[in-house]
Amino acid sequence: MSTIYNFSAGPAVLPKEVLQQARDEMLDWHGSGMSVMEMSHRGKEFMSIAEKTENDLRELADIPQNYKILFLQGGASSQFAMVPMNLLRGKTTADYINTGQWSTKAIEEAGRYCTVNVAASSQDKHFTYIPPQNEWRLNPQAAYVHYTSNETIGGVEFHWIPDTDVPLVADMSSDILSRPLDVTRYGLIYAGAQKNLGPAGLTLVIVREDLLGEPLPATPTLYDYQIHAQNDSMYNTPPTYAMYITGLVFAWLKKQGGLAAMETINNTKANLLYDYLDSTDFYHCPVARTDRSRMNIPFTLKNSTLDVEFLKQAQQNGLLQLKGHRSVGGMRASIYNAMPLEGVAKLVAFMKEFASRHA
Ligand SMILES: *Cc1c(COP(=O)(O)O)cnc(C)c1O
Repeated sequence: MSTIYNFSAGPAVLPKEVLQQARDEMLDWHGSGMSVMEMSHRGKEFMSIAEKTENDLRELADIPQNYKILFLQGGASSQFAMVPMNLLRGKTTADYINTGQWSTKAIEEAGRYCTVNVAASSQDKHFTYIPPQNEWRLNPQAAYVHYTSNETIGGVEFHWIPDTDVPLVADMSSDILSRPLDVTRYGLIYAGAQKNLGPAGLTLVIVREDLLGEPLPATPTLYDYQIHAQNDSMYNTPPTYAMYITGLVFAWLKKQGGLAAMETINNTKANLLYDYLDSTDFYHCPVARTDRSRMNIPFTLKNSTLDVEFLKQAQQNGLLQLKGHRSVGGMRASIYNAMPLEGVAKLVAFMKEFASRHA
């Protein structure tokens, strides 16, 4: 059987070495006689896994000590509520940048807790670009500014960090750790693990310490960042197995050379596909060139009656899960950290061949 490449948007591909190590350790982790799934989260074995996971992330992303790293459940979607509940801190309004479907969801949820000022939106052009900061209308009364660094569905990505006077909050679910990260520019960063970090079930939050401890009244205990921070993410049972796998991914990233090395390879991968898309009329990428995602690359066939045939033949060639999001149509290739360059090369070769056969 030839090599399979999985272009799923999430849950998504994991590094093969990580899965092999997890397989080898599945029944007996490091001579403990237990699977990681069977361990008490408060036992010394799992505590050592949790500590290494946190330390490796701190080292990889150069996270200063005044930022807490939280390992939560609930998905990135839970953060759409948890952010306003914790970060309004006596204020009644927050700024949001609307660049696509995930920002829209964050905005809708925040609207339950505060007055949302949509300071900029790219809805006028079907979310195919990032509004430049000189066009944003930020509200000086806002408690924070929220944006989505990479829109997983639309395929637009920020290639710059917004500059704000109030704490900056980012949903980095689909591009976290794909390039070096200047954590000091942010008040809070969150990400669901299942795109670029690990398995579903883990939600990562990186938050500046001084923003904690002032949640809205009646905030559920489990939605209070401070509770998790004070208990090293062990107030209740954290998603232990997902943390373990994510820890193996962090160790794998270090072995690849860290985030600068990942940025180089991710740029190479994305350019390979975009250069081909731009060289042909057979396919089309709708996203503005300056704002294209390096992680999620949507494209359409000029003749959409060939979509089904394209997907069928791609699958026969070991290229899986290329169907676009139901709201966008066409195709989407998600090429996260764990997608090797060979996978993108094989996809481009297949696309060329398909185009020549159906021209
Ligand atoms: C997938 C995704 C979400 C939602 O994540 P869940 O873990 O399913 O709640 C939110 N934001 C972005 C950018 C995403 O890609």
